[in-house]
This record gives sequence, C-alpha cells and structure tokens, in this order.
Amino acid sequence: MSADPDRLRLPTEIAGHYSSRSQRARVITESWVRTWAFCPNCGHALHSFENNRPVADFYCKTCSEEYELKSKKGHVARSIVDGAYTSMMARLGAANNPNLLLLAYDTDTYSVNTLLAIPKHFFVPSIIERRRPLRPTARRAGWIGCNIVIENLPTIGKVFLLRDGSQPRGARSCGTGAELSSFGPREPSKRRGGSWMS
Ligand SMILES: [Zn+2]
Repeated sequence: MSADPDRLRLPTEIAGHYSSRSQRARVITESWVRTWAFCPNCGHALHSFENNRPVADFYCKTCSEEYELKSKKGHVARSIVDGAYTSMMARLGAANNPNLLLLAYDTDTYSVNTLLAIPKHFFVPSIIERRRPLRPTARRAGWIGCNIVIENLPTIGKVFLLRDGSQPRGARSCGTGAELSSFGPREPSKRRGGSWMS
C-alpha cells in the first residue's frame, strides 16, 4: 500500500539555519521520526533523548526500548558507514543496547523512501565490520570506523516499516506502521539485555 506522500516529506523548512549538511539531515530526519514513526515494539510514540547519548537517539516511554537512528541518502544498500568501531562495539555489548532504525530518503524530493527497523537482538557485533585505520597522512590518522552490514542480517532481523515508499502488507496503519509480529511479544518489556524473541 503506497503511503501518503505528504507523510513521507522531510520537514526541510525547520533546518534552514543550519549550515552543516549533516546537521540539517539529522534535524529533519529526527523530526520526521518523532512525528510519524512509532515504537515497533509496542506501537507508542518515540521520544528524543534530551542530551546526545553515545548511540541511542529515541526511547519509548511505554516499553523503555531505545532506538538509534541512522539516516542515509538514496536507498538502503548492503552496508552503511557508521562511527568509531570501538564505541560501537562497547554500545552493542552494553546491557541497554539499542534497536536500530534505518531511514533512507531521496535527495531530489526530500521524501523518506524506506524505514527499516533492526531489533536489538539482531543489532549485534557480527553485523559490524571494522574498517581499515585511516592513513598516516589523514587528519585523524589511525582512527578506525565501522560499517553496519545490512546484508548479513537474516530476513527476520529486517523489519520494513516502509519500503520504497510503500507500507508492507501487515504493517500497522498508524504513522508509518510497524509489523509487530517480527518484534516478538507485544506486552511492554522491562527486561534489560534480554531478547524480544525469547
Ligand atoms: Zn514501545
């Protein structure tokens, strides 16, 4: 089912005073998620953390799940580039490791084409690829980044809330919708470090 184009439009007007493209992208994609996306675990609203946290960007007041948002231009590809390898591994190994929301948008229309949720029990070190250290001539010589390798995920670990501008069948009709069955139990989970699927 095609989603309403107005709902897919990123609110570019709210970020006019940011000169940095990456900051603009962050502001408009976070705003879109707050407005239209719902917690894939329980269907309630997502809220931003007040201060920047190492990884997580959103949390759900109902089920306490935490979400990291990654946005990229174009479409979801085999992998996405992320930040420092060591901090990513530490975050994924923590008791409150986050779920991942991956948002892809068209740069000509500034509309969201895909919103993919990866439950935290699939957002694990085995899908993180360590990149080569930056060359000695680089400004941050020796720094090591990482990639999140989407193609290494099993199908059940990829929950498309929106795919190529359409809501997959079975997705909930609120906001972008969420296919709750892939996220396990619907009752609020307070478990830390546990799995939605167990
Ligand atoms: Zn929730």
